[in-house]
Amino acid sequence: MTSLNLLDMYRSIIALPSISSTESSWDQSNEQVIRLLADWFSQLGFAVEVTELPDLPGKFNLLATRGEGDGGLLLAGHTDTVPFDPGRWTKDPFKLTEEGNRLYGLGTIDMKGFFAFIVEALKDLDLSKLTKPIRILATADEETTMAGARAIASAMAIKPDYAVIGEPTGLVPVMMHKGHMSEAIRITGKSGHSSDPANGVNALEIMHQVMGRLLDLQRQLKENYGNHHFKVPQPTLNLGHINGGDSPNRICACCELHFDMRPIPGVGPDELLGLLHHALEPIKEQYPKALELTHLHEPIPPYGTDPDGELVKAAESISGNKAEAVNYCTEAPFINQLGCQTIVLGPGHIAQAHQPDEYLDLSFVKPTVDVLQQLVNRFCLTK
Ligand SMILES: [Zn+2]
Repeated sequence: MTSLNLLDMYRSIIALPSISSTESSWDQSNEQVIRLLADWFSQLGFAVEVTELPDLPGKFNLLATRGEGDGGLLLAGHTDTVPFDPGRWTKDPFKLTEEGNRLYGLGTIDMKGFFAFIVEALKDLDLSKLTKPIRILATADEETTMAGARAIASAMAIKPDYAVIGEPTGLVPVMMHKGHMSEAIRITGKSGHSSDPANGVNALEIMHQVMGRLLDLQRQLKENYGNHHFKVPQPTLNLGHINGGDSPNRICACCELHFDMRPIPGVGPDELLGLLHHALEPIKEQYPKALELTHLHEPIPPYGTDPDGELVKAAESISGNKAEAVNYCTEAPFINQLGCQTIVLGPGHIAQAHQPDEYLDLSFVKPTVDVLQQLVNRFCLTK
C-alpha cells in the first residue's frame, strides 16, 4: 500500500519540466520524470527498468512490470510535453494550479498526468492476485521524433495482449488514425543568363512538372483509396512550401518543395513512397540526377486495431463511448507493432492539448480511475 494521492502526484510530475523540441534551445531531458515514475511504480511493487535511448543522451524510456510472463495489459504514455508560449500562459506551466474545478499545468492532459491516474487506479486493487501481467511504459520524445516508442517497437522485448495509450481522447476509445509523412523534393539545375535558355537547366521549370505529377497522384489517391472511418477518407497529399530562384534574369538553378502525405491503414508509407517514385520516374529519366527526394522526418505509420476485437469492445462498454477514428497522430502504430490490440483512451480533450493554460477538468477524475480499474480487472485480474 502506498500513501500516494492523485493531487500530490499531479503536483510533483507537473513541477518537473520535460519539454521535447526539435529546437535545441527548448529541448530538455525527461530523466527527472522517469525517476519519479520509477519511484511511484516501485512503491506499487513493480519491477522497473529504465533505458537511455541509443544516440539520445538524457532521453529515457521506463518499463515497469508487475506479474509474470507474456500477455496482459500495457498502459502507455509519453513523458515529454511540447514547449509553451510564456506570453500566452496566464498560470505557471510548472506549478499545478487548482481553480474552478480544473487543474492547470503543462502536461496535465498531454499527458504526464495519465501516470498519476494509473497509480491512483492501481493502488486500490489487489495486485497480488494478478492472473496476467500489467506493464507500464513511459516514453521519451513523442512530441518530436517518437524515438522512445520506435525503440520499444524495434526491441520487441515485450508481448502484451492489449495496450492502452492514455492520450487525451475525452475517454472516447480511439481505434484508428492516419500516419504522417513530411517530404522534400529538391531540384538542382544549372544557372545561366536568361537571354538564352540553352545556357542552363531551369529548376523551376522541372519543379513545375513535378508539381503536375504530384497533383495527378493526389487525384489518384482520392479515386483509388478510402477508409470510411475517416472524415477525409483518402490518403492526402498537400503541397506546403516552395523556395527557389533568385532573380528574373537568371535561369533558376535550385528549387525545393516541401509537402506532406497522410497514409491510412492498408496504404502505409512504403506504398505511398512507391506511388510517389513511380509518379516521378519520367522526370528522373528526362533529367538524371536533378531530382532528390528526402524525408523531412521519419514517417509515422498509420494505425488501426480490430474494431470488433475484445479491447475495443471492452473499452466501449466500460467507457460508454463508441470507438472512433481521429485525425491526430500518436505512438499507437509503434505500440501496435508489438502485436497487441491497441487503443488510445485517456482523460481530457485533445483541443486543450498544446494550448496555453492546458488543464484537466476534474470531472474526468472518477470516470478515468473507474475505466482503468475495470480494464485491469477485466484483462489482468480474472481468469
Ligand atoms: Zn500527447
